[in-house]
Amino acid sequence: MTIPADGSPAEYAYMDGNALAGPLSEVFAVDVTTATSRCAHCGRTEPVAALRVYAHAPGLVARCEGCDEVVLRMVRGTQTLWLDLRGAVALAFPMDGA
Ligand SMILES: [Zn+2]
Repeated sequence: MTIPADGSPAEYAYMDGNALAGPLSEVFAVDVTTATSRCAHCGRTEPVAALRVYAHAPGLVARCEGCDEVVLRMVRGTQTLWLDLRGAVALAFPMDGA
């Protein structure tokens, strides 16, 4: 977990997008952290692994490094996993072969 060096309250602490690898592996056959996301708010393109992941909410909230808007939300219940990607225009996955 990354703690802000400026002494901000703990609720502002976040991890990088690599924290999404394990939880999202329940849904996707590929490692989503290797994908590139385009922010729906500012258009910034960056690796999912570079998103700021906040884990102190009910679930995981990933925010854009550029504009701080929410790109991805994930909440895992006992029977259902909810994935909200409305903050991403697209996810681009590197694939082998043609
Ligand atoms: Zn953005």
